[in-house]
Amino acid sequence: MSKTVYFDNNATTQVAPEVRDAMLPFFGELYGNPSSMHAFGGSVAKHVDAAREEVARFLNADPDEIIFTSCATESDNSAIRGTADYFGRDLKVITTAVEHPAVLQPCRRLKALGHEVVELPVDSTGQLDLAQLEAELSKPSTSKPATLVSIMWANNETGVLFPIEKVAEICRAHGAILHTDAVQVAGKIPVDVKKVPVDMLSMSGHKFHAPKGVGIFYVRKGTKLKPFMLGGHQERTRRAGTENVPYIVGLAKACELARLGMADETVKLTALRDKLEAGILVSCPNVRVNGDRTHRLPNTLNVSFEYIEGEAIAYHLSDLGICISTGSACASGSLDPSHVIRAMGVPFTAVHGSVRFSLSRYNTMDEVDYVLEKLPPVIRNLRELSPFGPDKDVSTFK
Ligand code: PLP
Repeated sequence: MSKTVYFDNNATTQVAPEVRDAMLPFFGELYGNPSSMHAFGGSVAKHVDAAREEVARFLNADPDEIIFTSCATESDNSAIRGTADYFGRDLKVITTAVEHPAVLQPCRRLKALGHEVVELPVDSTGQLDLAQLEAELSKPSTSKPATLVSIMWANNETGVLFPIEKVAEICRAHGAILHTDAVQVAGKIPVDVKKVPVDMLSMSGHKFHAPKGVGIFYVRKGTKLKPFMLGGHQERTRRAGTENVPYIVGLAKACELARLGMADETVKLTALRDKLEAGILVSCPNVRVNGDRTHRLPNTLNVSFEYIEGEAIAYHLSDLGICISTGSACASGSLDPSHVIRAMGVPFTAVHGSVRFSLSRYNTMDEVDYVLEKLPPVIRNLRELSPFGPDKDVSTFK
């Protein structure tokens, strides 16, 4: 296999060469511990400070509001478990049925521990009903002194964008604390925490061309929270553990590249994605696009090929050098249909055939053309082999 077409950028991205170059000195001569008293460590601490300023600029936040973590999973857990730790049983949690497991699992743990936890549904386009959020926040049963709302900004599987600005307004009006998992919007749409007043926000470096193993946890000043990671006094005692200096520097470089290049990239990604989508809809019958097509990330396309399995499609494309996914990377390995696609009520003939194409700045029109050449015969062949289809028996297709 000579060619690799990587269309799985919501799972992870290539480290940008500029990011790699920025990190290299910190694997060599600049190895000091930023917490050390001596000047050698202090010279490294300055780079961590500069990185914090760059990340803050990316989010229009204050540098003091940026905490470096190991990944978005840690940031999500810090927000949810840290808030629960602060308020104890007095906390009610509202989230959605389509969150990433890094949010859903800590919320379900809180539920098992006796907290009141509500998962809001989505409609057939994967959109949230804000009236339901308002209703949940206004319930007379909401006698809890504190409510945490954890709602993602963009869905990793469908790319659907939630109206997080309106969510923030509603939360403010009801005095609820708002956390958003902004992993998939990083580098794809502008994030400004002054315009969209969330209290906490999570991002992961490897989703926007920094390495795996470093994350952002934004915490607005004054937010009531206990630290999730206990130990030393790093990050002003808000996240213990020696700073991962090379990755923090790389993360800041990725933020800078995203900040400077985002406008052009959005235009490019939208053109690539739209060509891919139009080409698939023209060349393959019995296909549906999953998710709200007007409020969607520019790089993401989720489609269901009815009557066949997404895993089989991904497997055959992989043989042709094309990388796509059938759900969140974390759920792969299981053949259960995606919880996101199921929550949208996608018909059973299409649930299993859902696949995700997700693009990055490094993709090209030639690659889109290559996929549009190779994909239709794969779909045709799988359909011929499938015992199910529009003219076949679907009664056992579940
Ligand atoms: N949240 C969302 C929306 C994601 O897409 C992911 C990763 O796929 C995560 C959280 C977890 O990120 P990480 O595995 O880097 O901690």
